[in-house]
Amino acid sequence: MIDLPENVKTIIARLHEKGFEGYAVGGCVRDALLGKQPNDWDITTNASPEEMKRCFEGCRLIETGLKHGTLTVMLGKEGYEITTYRVDGTYTDHRRPDSVRFVDDLREDLSRRDFTVNAMATADGREIVDLFGGREDLKNGILRCVGEAQKRFDEDALRILRALRFASTYDLEIEPETAKAALSLRATLKNVSEERIFSELKKLLCGKGCERILLRFPEIVFTILPELAPMLGFAQNNPHHAYDVWTHTAKTVAFAPAEPAYRLAMLFHDSGKPAAHTVDEDGVDHFKLHQLISAQIAETCLLRLKSDTATLRQVCFLVREHDLRIPNTEKAVKKQMIRLGSEGFLSLLPVFRADLMAQNPAMIPEKAAHIDELEKIARRLLSENACLKISQLAVNGNDLKSVGISGKDTGEMLKRLLNEVALSGVKNDRETLLSLAQSIKNGDGREET
Ligand code: ATP
Ligand code: MG
Repeated sequence: MIDLPENVKTIIARLHEKGFEGYAVGGCVRDALLGKQPNDWDITTNASPEEMKRCFEGCRLIETGLKHGTLTVMLGKEGYEITTYRVDGTYTDHRRPDSVRFVDDLREDLSRRDFTVNAMATADGREIVDLFGGREDLKNGILRCVGEAQKRFDEDALRILRALRFASTYDLEIEPETAKAALSLRATLKNVSEERIFSELKKLLCGKGCERILLRFPEIVFTILPELAPMLGFAQNNPHHAYDVWTHTAKTVAFAPAEPAYRLAMLFHDSGKPAAHTVDEDGVDHFKLHQLISAQIAETCLLRLKSDTATLRQVCFLVREHDLRIPNTEKAVKKQMIRLGSEGFLSLLPVFRADLMAQNPAMIPEKAAHIDELEKIARRLLSENACLKISQLAVNGNDLKSVGISGKDTGEMLKRLLNEVALSGVKNDRETLLSLAQSIKNGDGREET
């Protein structure tokens, strides 16, 4: 039994009044059966696009999708997409049908849909039209193509990524035939736009089942991100590690906060390890400065995937700084808070923790306690309003002019003063800082901290 929202009932009732069929369909039925709040409620009908328009005369309508049979009806602030039953024509580009054809049988419309769990419909919330066993699959946690998997992925390669994404978000097992077909057709992913790939990848990474999917389908991930392939099976013979690089990576992704930037950062954080690998005379593996190579790989990949700038910047920052070793002293924490910004410093802690959780289990408790200690120090400094940035200094660039410092020297001097205040205990007041600036300028021989 599904509780249809009032607006959905109103739309279906209007279609019925005018002699047409109307069903809630697809993702909303799946989500409602799982007890989740659907993102949106899509409706399908045997009314043609022109008939739909007549049914909803008087409502605000958005007609942009009408050629493909979709009319958006606005009820208050909410938009509802109503789509005429349709089947797809032939596919020649592994992505979009060359044409669509409107039909008047719900069954035909359901059979064009990608997965059984996405191919259910209901008019009243009580009776579910479920021709392909979607409910049973949902109950058993299975993702399965509608019809012949090989054919369905061959038609539209995006479905390969959708399969991994749904399996991850809803923690479903991909049925063997579906999995086999997805793997065998992975090369056709080159027909999918980078934007669509990126959007599916982010959802996949943020899903509950991401670790399992990354470990089960590395070849598909490497088809969209070939730069990651060297991680697979790359051993790490040193006391910190218990897993090869790819296994470690998949685990850290799952341990990180379920936000795209964090999950992407963990996906890339060790991608530079194979290139940075050296072995010492005792046979121990080292990966010096791998984080810089990883950050470069992340940037290359995210630019190609047309990531938004904010995500790209955050991911590259987290990757570049993920391997910082910070002693748990106030001075060391202050130094990093100045260098990274307080926000930047705190944003790294979840990365340290996720990375740690997938290392040698014997070392976890001690290292975890160390990270907790770093956080405690940082939060205490913030609550004490410790001087950690230039804007907190008792002087600004303008003030420095009075002691003859201007232009490009200003920034350097302010940084120097901040270090003196934060790290050497110089008093943060105007007079002290101006006279200190003056003596530094005159080269009075103070050593820089
Ligand atoms: P969500 O909106 O939560 O991401 P959804 O299942 O609603 O998931 P949409 O992309 O909104 O996904 O698509 C709505 C429905 O349209 C799907 O449930 C599915 O029935 C069908 N569908 C979407 N994309 C495809 C596709 N590439 N091939 C076949 N059917 C598809
Ligand atoms: Mg949807």
